[in-house]
Amino acid sequence: MESSNRESGIETIKIEEIQAKLNKGEWVTVHSKAPEDTAALGALLGRTASPGQIYTLTGDLGVGKTVFTQGFAKGLGVAGPVNSPTFTIVQIYEDGRLPFYHFDVYRIADVEEMEEIGYEDCFYGDGVCLIEWAELIEEILPRDIVQVIIEKDLEKGFDYRRISVKSHFKRPGEIK
Ligand code: ADP
Ligand code: MG
Repeated sequence: MESSNRESGIETIKIEEIQAKLNKGEWVTVHSKAPEDTAALGALLGRTASPGQIYTLTGDLGVGKTVFTQGFAKGLGVAGPVNSPTFTIVQIYEDGRLPFYHFDVYRIADVEEMEEIGYEDCFYGDGVCLIEWAELIEEILPRDIVQVIIEKDLEKGFDYRRISVKSHFKRPGEIK
């Protein structure tokens, strides 16, 4: 994995560096060359996640959102296997450092489905939310989010992913 401008393995990527940029509201760009890199970045962020945070994950099908999530959960100290909550929209893990709410809203037809599952208790609670396909529920997202965008660039290889992270107050329509 490389951070923005220089070559570096995941072991040399400093979470302090990432957090400093995030705290300033700057984009952090990481160049992932394998699933392990993506999971490792997730784990770094999971280790430092704080109560009430909402991570929005966007990117095409098969880009690595769940791989990132699995690393994130590990970083939070969640023991169990984490897979996409296909039929339930949200899967809750309570055995980590903080309650972990993993949403995958890919199959949601209407945001009302979010109301039905009581999403507000998750969004405005003391745990950490991570939402795959967050752009589909943009209208109910709070403004204060950590945005994670994962993109392929086939010119850089089949397993290459550019991961961009920013902690900010989003503007309406900004997540798509
Ligand atoms: P999504 O949740 O975005 O639909 P998944 O995380 O389920 O995607 O799947 C991503 C797939 O891409 C996995 O099969 C994974 O092994 C593969 N892959 C290849 N390179 C990478 C990479 N750099 N980062 C993440 N996943 C990768
Ligand atoms: Mg997924």
